[in-house]
Amino acid sequence: MELYSTNNKNTRVSFKEAVFNSMPQDKGLYMPVEIPQLEQDFIDNIGQYSLQEIAFKVASALLQDSIPAGDLKAIVEDATNFPAPVVSLNERTAVLELFHGPSLAFKDFGARFMSRVMSYFLKPGEKQLDVLVATSGDTGGAVALGFLGVPGTRVTILYPKGKVSPIQELQLTTNGQNIRAIEVDGTFDDCQALVKQAFTDAELNEKFRLTSANSINISRLIPQTFYYFNAYAQLQRQGKKDVVFSVPSGNFGNIGAGFLAYKMGLPVKQFIAATNINDTVPRFLESGKYQPKPSVQTYANAMDVGAPSNWVRIMDMFDNKREKVLEILEGYRFTDEETLQAIKILHGQFHYIACPHTAIAWLATQAYFKKHPESTATAVFLSTAHPCKFPDIFPADIAAEIEIPEQVQSLEGKPKQVHQSGADFAGFKRYLLAEG
Ligand SMILES: *Cc1c(COP(=O)(O)O)cnc(C)c1O
Repeated sequence: MELYSTNNKNTRVSFKEAVFNSMPQDKGLYMPVEIPQLEQDFIDNIGQYSLQEIAFKVASALLQDSIPAGDLKAIVEDATNFPAPVVSLNERTAVLELFHGPSLAFKDFGARFMSRVMSYFLKPGEKQLDVLVATSGDTGGAVALGFLGVPGTRVTILYPKGKVSPIQELQLTTNGQNIRAIEVDGTFDDCQALVKQAFTDAELNEKFRLTSANSINISRLIPQTFYYFNAYAQLQRQGKKDVVFSVPSGNFGNIGAGFLAYKMGLPVKQFIAATNINDTVPRFLESGKYQPKPSVQTYANAMDVGAPSNWVRIMDMFDNKREKVLEILEGYRFTDEETLQAIKILHGQFHYIACPHTAIAWLATQAYFKKHPESTATAVFLSTAHPCKFPDIFPADIAAEIEIPEQVQSLEGKPKQVHQSGADFAGFKRYLLAEG
């Protein structure tokens, strides 16, 4: 597999280089030079295959000979060893549950695959890889649990004090082994600034082999295509053909993977970008003006993104032409009030408890059907996290019904290990150097 930079298509790097660099020097994003087409026969019979079989097929097509088949198969099977079921709510609406992995969020797909690919590419005796991540909640948990125990790697997670939910904090702080958590007395932006400064610090770079686990890394995008194909396989088994995907979006990595799957031949009638009031993309689709804004805090905080980092990838897949994007993508935005209302309707009418991000994706399916009353498609909305990760958002009666999955229960007795830090870089750097 060869990749170019969206800022310069003459740049060519290997998959390994793209994985370790995350971002090209020119600040573009890596994209595959060639997006392979899966055979029609495979798509027509995809219902016969399991998630892991589909994942291997898709990964082999994309990666070609970047990783030999036997090794790739092992990586893929280990990275996708939990289900991604499509659960029907009614005749034409279904939810694709992506929260059955270790951290209970869809980011597990990306983080697990990335960690195993990075570890695979490290040669014996090479310097340990130090992954630095700033998190507002979900990314940190997925990366921590994705890298937990992975040879040759160490992860340092920075999270803002008092701003992640109790379950998210457990996932960040109870791991031990090769995972360290730093509670920063500041905001998420402060955490991100510390990580960014570390990457440009000569002394730290001299001593450590630093890397980021950012959502723009191509090895996070690739595994997210697997569950789109697998969702289609499940629908095919139910005799359903026309599918619309509604994706709760922040940095647009998840929906970007959906487009990559589409470009590889997955038959999708329509994608829907569902956002909270951080609506840079829906505004762009309406007006043609791309105007990022500072983010605003909402109930769906993993989508509080004013400048979606993966959007350039999507534009790149459609030759940077808005008209082409409009043929396959609609965007809808929703307020916190609407989100809460949706949570109540889903609970009351369908006995389904959705996290706020997921509720927004459901709202967008309803908006889609309202706009296209003639549509006979099945609308599949992606559920990006388990509701137990966002307990404060729910009315008490609904919160009381949320079941705590086994993944979390097993963390509850474990001791918390966390380093407290201010938001100043000097203190953070001293800690890193002292720990060695
Ligand atoms: C990260 C995240 C999102 C947004 O996904 P993007 O790929 O950034 O668009 C949505 N929901 C949840 C729960 C998340 O953790």
